Amino acid sequence: MNALQVKDLVVAYGQVNAIDGVSFDVPQGKLVTLIGANGAGKTTLLKALIGALPAKSGAVTLNGEDMGRAPVEDRVRRGMFLVPEKRSLFGSMKVEDNLLLGAYSKRHDTDFAQELERIYKLFPVLKERRKQLAGTLSGGEQQMVAIGRALIARPRILLLDEPSIGLAPLIVQQIMDVIVDLRRTEGLTIVLVEQNARIALKNADLGYLIELGRIVKSGEGAQLAEDPELLRSYLGVQ
Ligand code: ATP
Repeated sequence: MNALQVKDLVVAYGQVNAIDGVSFDVPQGKLVTLIGANGAGKTTLLKALIGALPAKSGAVTLNGEDMGRAPVEDRVRRGMFLVPEKRSLFGSMKVEDNLLLGAYSKRHDTDFAQELERIYKLFPVLKERRKQLAGTLSGGEQQMVAIGRALIARPRILLLDEPSIGLAPLIVQQIMDVIVDLRRTEGLTIVLVEQNARIALKNADLGYLIELGRIVKSGEGAQLAEDPELLRSYLGVQ
């Protein structure tokens, strides 16, 4: 069963189609990686999936249900959650309060302390820093807060826009490990957009390469990570 199905999706800025007829499937419980050069349309695609940008044509189906023109809040209610590239944390609020923002749509009887403990287990460093202002954290720690906040909303499909951007290799690996773990232990369905293409593909069930708003290559993640053409153009191997 596909958690998400995208069919002939077109998304335009004015007359220009930034996403130009994209179709792909995200099976339930799988990790799917989207790669592509700057400006290929990856962020635009994620924004359209979550409903922040309108589709010009085509369809997005979430758990078998056509999203049509459903607004962001409907899609979030149905279990989709986007962690944007800029993380959008509140720098002058404590880490813990930033995390709890993810729970704003939760019922009053939610055990918030237990939710926080779940996140601190995934990211122990955030427990140490929980009373610190989010703006004072390192880039990697801020990314952990952004992912943690999303997880508190208990999504079924997590969309991640370049979570490792600007981070040191060791931290990139750490973030990747958590992403892989979430898929394995919680059965979370994940759509990951990444510039660190090799590591993101290696860990993915499926991968898609986007060029100029179209999918030009797809396959098993591990296979794409070794694809000679991809290695040359996107994976930084001469
Ligand atoms: P990056 O890795 O740089 O974020 P991307 O693959 O996410 O790149 P998008 O940001 O989705 O690419 O951009 C796709 C195309 O749409 C680019 O040509 C970009 O210039 C254009 N574009 C993006 N946002 C807008 C906007 N708000 N108005 C007009 N054009 C835009």
